[in-house]
Amino acid sequence: MGRYHIWTIGCQYNVADSRRTAEGLERLGYRWTKQIEEADLIVLNTCVVRQSAEDKVLGRLSSLKPLKKKHPEAVIAVMGCFIDDVPALKQTFPYVDAFFKPSDVEGLLEFVQTRHPTLRFTFHVLRFTFPVSCYVPVIEGCSRFCTYCIVRLRRGRERSRPMDDIVEEVECLVQRGAREITLLGQNVDAYGHDLPGQPDLADLLTAVHGIEGLWRIRFLTSHPADMKERIIDAVASLPKVCEHIEVPVQSGDDAVLKRMVRGYTVDQYRRLVARIRERIPRVSLATDVIVGFPGETEEQFMNTCKLLEETRFDVVHVAAYSPRPGTAASRFPDDVPQGEKERRRKLIEELQEDIAGEINQQLLGETVEVLVEEKHRGKWKGRTRTHKLVFFEDDGDWQGKLAQVKITWAGPWSMQGELD
Ligand code: SAM
Ligand code: SF4
Repeated sequence: MGRYHIWTIGCQYNVADSRRTAEGLERLGYRWTKQIEEADLIVLNTCVVRQSAEDKVLGRLSSLKPLKKKHPEAVIAVMGCFIDDVPALKQTFPYVDAFFKPSDVEGLLEFVQTRHPTLRFTFHVLRFTFPVSCYVPVIEGCSRFCTYCIVRLRRGRERSRPMDDIVEEVECLVQRGAREITLLGQNVDAYGHDLPGQPDLADLLTAVHGIEGLWRIRFLTSHPADMKERIIDAVASLPKVCEHIEVPVQSGDDAVLKRMVRGYTVDQYRRLVARIRERIPRVSLATDVIVGFPGETEEQFMNTCKLLEETRFDVVHVAAYSPRPGTAASRFPDDVPQGEKERRRKLIEELQEDIAGEINQQLLGETVEVLVEEKHRGKWKGRTRTHKLVFFEDDGDWQGKLAQVKITWAGPWSMQGELD
């Protein structure tokens, strides 16, 4: 039987798509290999959200050219947000056998079956092990118009999956050992508006909450303008839904937010955070920030720093603005020099390191519930309900179990503890 290798870069959506691809390939009888040179089928699952991600994809692709020359029988398939103009891509990368749009897992599996018509789906024991924590896409694409963003151009407009479909998938994942699921969408708060009866994310959380054997539910990414009261209430009232919300602000300056076409003001964002904190005590909050957006002055950048200092997020993902082809912002002058973007990025990273360190220090001596995902360098690794990474040592088998861990050391990115 054939061996496959999947290389994945980018967002959680890609991780989810690669997991589904792997499951499908295993069902067709393929087996995973770590060694790309040994693979009969190589899948690259790509991202182009920033130039740096695209450069990595291009590097990977060019490294496959000599491999294909050496093993012409190896099949190379490329999927994800790198895929735009397929005929042009075919010309530039003639050694790639097929290209698939983001999330077109079915297309890829069909292609594999067409090349090997004797392959049949098998439903006998799957050797593939499911992660304790799985991603489940619930709404594909995005219908917002953030001027910097290429994702919506590559993934298309929003399409929600029917609720029954999602519940069925989660039930299957739980039967195979998953204990935590994260419902995914580029704008997960928009879930359902395009479905008959217009269910919303709160309805979906409630439906999934009823699944026996499922312990924890998460969702991402929220959009500040779409995070309605009902969603906050669902997090507050459904015990399995974890107290962790990822709600990107992108900038702490109204003029920049307007140029980004984000659809809210800094004050509206502040009020949203206040409402979340009021309804969900001890919630942990994560956000994304872009620095060096076209026209961002020092003062506007400082407004972002002020917002971060005042809000004290648990996690901040910060990125230097990168112009992306086809986006509205790519037509704005990219006038913040690269060195200055880097300086701003580092400043926020340093600021956030201090804040996250201080927040996590408050957990010293406390006992937290950790869902253990795997062993990593001799230690058990898992996450708290608030999505904080915790390591502890023990000889027992903790994979997929809930451990009560007393925190003995806390840093900005992770914590260590001992079984309580
Ligand atoms: N849907 C989410 C939202 O509304 O923020 C996130 C989607 S995007 C795939 C993930 C993150 O990449 C964004 O939050 C943003 O910070 C970053 N990003 C997107 N486009 C970017 C660009 N052109 N330059 C730099 N960072 C970018
Ligand atoms: Fe991109 Fe904005 Fe949609 Fe997020 S909400 S995927 S940043 S267009």
